[in-house]
Amino acid sequence: MQTCTRCLYSSIHPLHILFDDEGLCSGCRVHQEKDLLDWNKRGEKLELILKNYRSNSGRNYDCIVPVSGARDSYFIVHTIKKVYGMNPLLVTYNKHYSTDVGIRNLANLRIKFDCDIMTQTINPEVVKKITRSTFRRFGSIYWHCLAGQSAFPVQLAVKLKIPLIIWGAHQGVDQVGMFSHLNEVEMTRKYRKEHDLMGYEAEDLIDDFDGINEKDISPFKYPDNREIEQIGVRGIYLNNFIRWDSRLQHEKMIEIYGYETAKQTRTFDFYNDVDCWNYSDVHDYIKFIKYGYGKVLDHACRDIRLGHITREDGLNLVRGYSELPPKNLELFISWLGITKNAFYYVLDQHRNPDLWERGLDWSWRLRDGLAISSLDGQVMGLKEGLANEFMLTNKKKSVDRDDGYILIGKGM
Ligand SMILES: [Zn+2]
Repeated sequence: MQTCTRCLYSSIHPLHILFDDEGLCSGCRVHQEKDLLDWNKRGEKLELILKNYRSNSGRNYDCIVPVSGARDSYFIVHTIKKVYGMNPLLVTYNKHYSTDVGIRNLANLRIKFDCDIMTQTINPEVVKKITRSTFRRFGSIYWHCLAGQSAFPVQLAVKLKIPLIIWGAHQGVDQVGMFSHLNEVEMTRKYRKEHDLMGYEAEDLIDDFDGINEKDISPFKYPDNREIEQIGVRGIYLNNFIRWDSRLQHEKMIEIYGYETAKQTRTFDFYNDVDCWNYSDVHDYIKFIKYGYGKVLDHACRDIRLGHITREDGLNLVRGYSELPPKNLELFISWLGITKNAFYYVLDQHRNPDLWERGLDWSWRLRDGLAISSLDGQVMGLKEGLANEFMLTNKKKSVDRDDGYILIGKGM
């Protein structure tokens, strides 16, 4: 296993990170562009693109912005509406795993920015059926979220004839350096299928065994090329035009608009994914079992590259969080209607045998030297101070976790 000399990514990364002669990974190499590019010029380029889509008549929205109650939603809407003066239609896919913090963030978003929002909430029984299938077949409880949130904006773009969709950061640029910022990659069906959807299109889920039919999968289907071309739908990524620093951007949004943050189970980042019970919890634990690392590694690499933390700090954070068990498993399995034994049985089918081995007591452990958390054979304690550098906003009165996925999330 080769590990990058600057960040902490290694050759076990599933998105095929490459290493150069100096031992630097492709993600770090592309990240260096952030300090080399003329971002004012990049911003002017963005203005040129947006100019073509401003509706002079004011009869239609200028663009579609996919949002959630977390991530970079506030920053994207702030940039598009306040900085560039566009009139966006916000769209959101209800993940069904909604936390109260996420619901408040989403409500506050549309109020503070005075925007219209369209929400897609799919029948919970269909979502459960699909999730049981994707978990069993390829170990994902998040396929429906990824497929829904990437299909719904494109479906609406076609239907409402709003050709421009604006996304935040492209993972292939910001995380793994698959493309340069200068490539200005845009949204494609191919990248979505191969990377976001783990190779499975909605059509691939139709199956008698799972009882999934054509109607069930239609909300997750990407429109066909003819429809997309007719309207001229394109999706651009802001991180190709703005120097992307998720941490600083969130802090600005907390200050200006009151974005709410929350502690996460398996990572030190309190800003991203606070809208979801599972993303940094059960879903992230599954990622750890499948790929030998969790989201905390992504967050540590990101913050090392941006100079917010040192490599050593990052290493300690990864060691401290990687092996923590999920806290919200009971909530998830009771929603899905499976037992804990069934969950762990299925999970083991997706455990990567190249990464894991049975110990003498028959419990699973990462093979020696393979993952960051076992580099020196021990898990070290957390440096509390480091994690606390993330701003935790005042916690409002919260719905008890046992109440499940609340409001629009629970669906019953
Ligand atoms: Zn690197």
